Amino acid sequence: MKTYNPFCEEMLAELQAALGAENVWTAADKLDQYKTDEETDPKKFHLPEAVVLPASAEEVAAVVKLCNKYNVPVTVRGGGTSLADGAIPVCGGIVLLTERMNKIIEMNTEAMYMIVEAGVRTIDIQKMANEAGFLYAGDPCSAESCQIGGNLATNAGGNKAVRYGVTRNQVYCLEMVTPTGEIVEVGARLKKCSTGYCMEQLVMGSEGTLGIITKATLKLLPLAPYRFDMLAVFDEPQNAIDVVPKLIKAGVNPTSIEYMDNSYVRSTADYLDFKAAPHYEDGIYVIITVETYNEDELDLKMEQLNDLCEEAGAVDVLEADDRIWSMRRNCQESVRLISLVSLTDDIVVPVDKIADTIKKIMEIDKKYPFPVPAKINAHVGDGNLHVVLCKGDLSDEDWEKHVYDFHKEVYAYVYELGGRMAGEHGIGAKKLGYMEEFTPAGELDLMKKIKLAWDPNLILNPGKIFNM
Ligand SMILES: Cc1cc2nc3c(=O)[nH]c(=O)nc-3n(C[C@H](O)[C@H](O)[C@H](O)COP(=O)(O)OP(=O)(O)OC[C@H]3O[C@@H](n4cnc5c(N)ncnc54)[C@H](O)[C@@H]3O)c2cc1C
Repeated sequence: MKTYNPFCEEMLAELQAALGAENVWTAADKLDQYKTDEETDPKKFHLPEAVVLPASAEEVAAVVKLCNKYNVPVTVRGGGTSLADGAIPVCGGIVLLTERMNKIIEMNTEAMYMIVEAGVRTIDIQKMANEAGFLYAGDPCSAESCQIGGNLATNAGGNKAVRYGVTRNQVYCLEMVTPTGEIVEVGARLKKCSTGYCMEQLVMGSEGTLGIITKATLKLLPLAPYRFDMLAVFDEPQNAIDVVPKLIKAGVNPTSIEYMDNSYVRSTADYLDFKAAPHYEDGIYVIITVETYNEDELDLKMEQLNDLCEEAGAVDVLEADDRIWSMRRNCQESVRLISLVSLTDDIVVPVDKIADTIKKIMEIDKKYPFPVPAKINAHVGDGNLHVVLCKGDLSDEDWEKHVYDFHKEVYAYVYELGGRMAGEHGIGAKKLGYMEEFTPAGELDLMKKIKLAWDPNLILNPGKIFNM
């Protein structure tokens, strides 16, 4: 196990000289703000020893060089919305905030790309593209609070992945600072490229362990002028899920297919004080969005969707207005009403296995004494399920044991189906143990070799993804 040096006065002085004293924080109240991300279990919190706020790639590089020199680890933090304990400095050291790198550098509507710094909020990218008649297709539910750097580092998914793919599909190239402090550009603004290794794709999804992303060139798409959002309400999970392959095979090319079980319908309606939420008592929601470039095509697809949902047993088919989307976006937050400590999972299975998986999870869940049944929401068109467990009044010991056993059972089933334990949130510190256990040995070994080759001093975000 690698050991690190404690943060020291000499390092503090060098950081202050590089960034300006006002951009290096060591006061206890400041450090306390960065001991956790979206993690709710205080046992998982960890204080940094300093927090730094660089304003450029050059300043990031200076921080990373000092971290190597003093043998102090550094964890990057974007919006801090990680659901995998990714932004928690589990080995102490420095937390590096990207919030001062928040400029949209260029939007080119002729060539349809945008160059942004890592600390720009995702929603600001979406808005700027929309206002100019374009779409940036990355769309995590956390868009209002996460940053593009965090999305790139986790390869975030979200609500539009079924049609447009995940974050890695929206990117031409990146600027990054390597774990030893060099500034490099990876990738190119090209439609195709087979010129050596695809480095930008390796960095995306590496959760701040292979490089600190400082800038990205993102793809824009023409914004479809016609859009329809439909809410199909079901009373049986099986019917709600069975409609998914039918929608995909019908060639409707939906932008989103999202699923909320009834437990989520209730908790988000309560959280948003939306008393008139349709079918509050027993409805299971499937939210479907279709976008087209032609009005007649939209009408045709709406009819097709309506018929497909009714044939699949929908008890109601309605227009999904903003309040329904707000429910979907606030699923995660609504859990706070039920339990102060909770745990969100992020499994992904082949799309044709999602109904079996939901059924199996509900079966497994019945064996455990969690205070409320597991809650399930899903980017169901991508086979990506979020299963939330609540601690309630369980003792710490019981909670840890039951969560561990529950996950072992679920992951064993998921891997048997050819699935994986993280579809979009990453592994972080949260699933490191399971990652070691479930990843095929050859694949894990390659990952560790890459990490060691890029980051010989293990400076970047240690204690994440796997053990070194
Ligand atoms: C309410 C809610 C809804 C969510 N919905 C979705 C969803 O629909 N889809 C989805 O994919 N996720 C979702 N998430 C999870 C989370 O928002 C994503 O993982 C997001 O991409 C994290 O971005 P962030 O800026 O908050 O990153 P952080 O939480 O700050 O960091 C996440 C990881 O990325 C690393 N990192 C951050 N910035 C950089 C950088 N510049 N360079 C290198 N590494 C970096 C960190 O070290 C950490 O490992 C949701 C979270 C919440 C709370």
